[in-house]
Amino acid sequence: MEISSEDLELCASILEDEITVVQSVYPESSRVNQEGLTGESPSDVSIVLEIPVDLGETREVKIIDDGTIAASSAAVSPGTSATNEEGNTVTQSSQNNITTTKTATNPDPHSTISHAQDTQQTATLQLSSLPPIIVSLQLPPAYPLHAPPEILSLHSTHAWLSPSLVSCLRAKVFSLWDECRASGEGVLWRLVQYVRNGDFIPELSLLDDTAGAASTDTTITTAVPLRIPHAAPQLLAPRLQAYDAHLASSLFDLKTFTCAICLSPHKGSACIALSCAHVFCKDCLREFWGTCIAEGEVERVMCPDEECVKGGRKAREEEVRSVVLDERVVERWKWIRQKIELEKDPTTVHCPMEWCQAPVRRPRAVKEEEEESQWDRLRTCQSCQYSFCVLCKRTWHGPLTVCPPSVTMPFVLEYMSAGADSPKRREIERRLGKNNIERLVARYQEEELNKKWIDQSTMACPGCEVKVEKSLGECQSVCPFRAAGERLRPGSPVDR
Ligand SMILES: [Zn+2]
Ligand SMILES: [Zn+2]
Ligand SMILES: [Zn+2]
Ligand SMILES: [Zn+2]
Ligand SMILES: [Zn+2]
Repeated sequence: MEISSEDLELCASILEDEITVVQSVYPESSRVNQEGLTGESPSDVSIVLEIPVDLGETREVKIIDDGTIAASSAAVSPGTSATNEEGNTVTQSSQNNITTTKTATNPDPHSTISHAQDTQQTATLQLSSLPPIIVSLQLPPAYPLHAPPEILSLHSTHAWLSPSLVSCLRAKVFSLWDECRASGEGVLWRLVQYVRNGDFIPELSLLDDTAGAASTDTTITTAVPLRIPHAAPQLLAPRLQAYDAHLASSLFDLKTFTCAICLSPHKGSACIALSCAHVFCKDCLREFWGTCIAEGEVERVMCPDEECVKGGRKAREEEVRSVVLDERVVERWKWIRQKIELEKDPTTVHCPMEWCQAPVRRPRAVKEEEEESQWDRLRTCQSCQYSFCVLCKRTWHGPLTVCPPSVTMPFVLEYMSAGADSPKRREIERRLGKNNIERLVARYQEEELNKKWIDQSTMACPGCEVKVEKSLGECQSVCPFRAAGERLRPGSPVDR
């Protein structure tokens, strides 16, 4: 569809207006890269919205175990399953395996007892706010009337929203845009209100509707407690509590702080309190951390306070995200950090749980010559107890089920294309286990050989196109061709 230049101008002016409104009402919530607006030719505008969730008044928040961790360790603990169910496990496709895991994780929604059967846990808190949702948007020139905003990332601080809820919320942002567009408006203001007022809470089914009545209610009423499914309630609860206490007790945004870097007074809304409680203005930290990341010195991305530098207290991901406000810089920081971690201990992988990401080392030093078992693929994260397969990064699927080839293919090919004894091969061997990778390569080569053999020595049965050995000439099963009694001599041309 052709978009006229008048249309683009209209889009730009709507966008300019909505940015002005959001920034003047919630200066602390948004950071805009306006080049696209002011530049000669129209281009993308990027904006980061950091929107805290206001629950109105103090209400009960239950964090319930979503069963992810329990399922992963349940899959590990019975050491007998490895041999006993051999037949079952081997034939089970990996896809099947994943669905089973999911059904097994279904938590009982009516369970209100803490530490119920298994390792299911529930934490109950009294909160008046939830940590911010951080949305990074890219707005093309045809936004808002002819193009949707592109969501570069959507995160909840402390990852209090599980990955599946985050995807729901992403979808909501899109439908909000569609609604707003119909009335000739942009989505930014609506989105900020939607998150800030907690309008998304009932829509993501985060209300504890054990009473059964709330399901049709679209407003967030105070009588109903919140119910947040999470993989590790015991880890999340103190973080939510601390955030809420911080916000409530200090009214941080309204206070004035003297930044220890620029030595000037700043409103709390322009500052960040790091988890060590030191406060800096965001502009100073952005410049400092930004420079460190640009120069690859990610080890220095930490609180600049002398004591914290001595203690080596690294910045957390949400701190970097909230300060840096540029998705590409955050990604670069994560990438270099991972690289350094890997150089320190080549066996390190990161916990695949988005909210955890802790480095996970190989459990025991396996001698190179020692026979590694299929159990060598198992890793258990020390900080969240999640058990996963080091090769495919999925919930531990037992020693006998093979990883989905679509996931393992890229590094098998990477491994094979690196020369024998090359540093690249060593690195992959140390990280994933020598025998693990060799088994995958062997399986890959065997499949390639099979394919070759099939291509060379078989032909399609002229009747039903089933592949048959060339010497047989037609398939062994019953097919219309064979049924018709027209026997075919090997190699003779077929007229059809
Ligand atoms: Zn400063
Ligand atoms: Zn500090
Ligand atoms: Zn973990
Ligand atoms: Zn696997
Ligand atoms: Zn046939």
